[in-house]
Amino acid sequence: MRIDLHTHSTVSDGTESPVELVDSAASAGLDVVALTDHDSVAGWDQARARCAERGLGFVPGIEISCAVDGRSLHLLGYYVDPADPGLFDELAKARESRATRAERMVELLAPVTGLTWDEVVAQVTAGATIGRPHIADALVARGVVADRAEAFEKYLASDGPYHVAHYAVDPVKGVELVRAAGGVPVLAHPFAHVTGRVVEDGTVEAMVDAGLLGMEVDHRDQGPRERARAAEYVRRYGLIRTGSSDYHGTGKPNELGENTTSPQMWARIKDAAADLRHGLEPAGDH
Ligand code: AMP
Ligand code: FE
Ligand code: FE
Ligand code: ZN
Repeated sequence: MRIDLHTHSTVSDGTESPVELVDSAASAGLDVVALTDHDSVAGWDQARARCAERGLGFVPGIEISCAVDGRSLHLLGYYVDPADPGLFDELAKARESRATRAERMVELLAPVTGLTWDEVVAQVTAGATIGRPHIADALVARGVVADRAEAFEKYLASDGPYHVAHYAVDPVKGVELVRAAGGVPVLAHPFAHVTGRVVEDGTVEAMVDAGLLGMEVDHRDQGPRERARAAEYVRRYGLIRTGSSDYHGTGKPNELGENTTSPQMWARIKDAAADLRHGLEPAGDH
């Protein structure tokens, strides 16, 4: 059974609609796929319905933007209750701040690239979580850069002159909110140095204390050393180990199913979600 628990659609910064994404997952030979758009669950219904039509298992998920001490990190939440106000009020704040931040980044980029806000808006599906990849797409459309990778390299790096931070929830609070919403918190690509500074040890420990249940080990932005480090956390705290593609359609080279999660680990995620829904403490190994 091939299980990919981390993908993005046009509901955030992927390039395929939820339906197209599920079709791609079927073509890639996946049996189970999660949709984990940034700060939004707006693609769930479409993806779930398409998975049913195509005979795939669907895992509802979300990738929550978090920040601590100016470092951003990503928290996956599986099977969260989409009606939970605690979590979703927080995510609405993040989405609003993302829009304001994107406008400010365009103001900074305009003198050097000629970019306009309308050009960015043209790249965003209505209602989607806006992010730097949409600014990248507008720069590509304008002919300033060839692809998203070049846009990030030249203009969008988090330590670059055109970057503006957006509001994001503290990761410990994020773990608490996911659990309170009946979801299973899994730390995404903790040691992916490619896209910025990595998560510090103290942060991981604080998240584990707050009830973090899993960690993404197998991810293309983590090499052998980073995976070994993540696997050590998994062992030490009895976490659920996941591996995923972090597919973004044509927005990134990541291919569906390039990393996968074992059926045993998916079963643990489902069990933990069931326990949290019934108000039980999910069984941990520590
Ligand atoms: P933001 O959420 O606006 O801070 O932008 C971060 C997002 O940009 C991540 O979710 C990645 O999907 C994407 N990203 C980061 N670096 C790159 C890159 N070099 N090429 C394409 N996408 C990237
Ligand atoms: Fe992304
Ligand atoms: Fe991420
Ligand atoms: Zn992601």
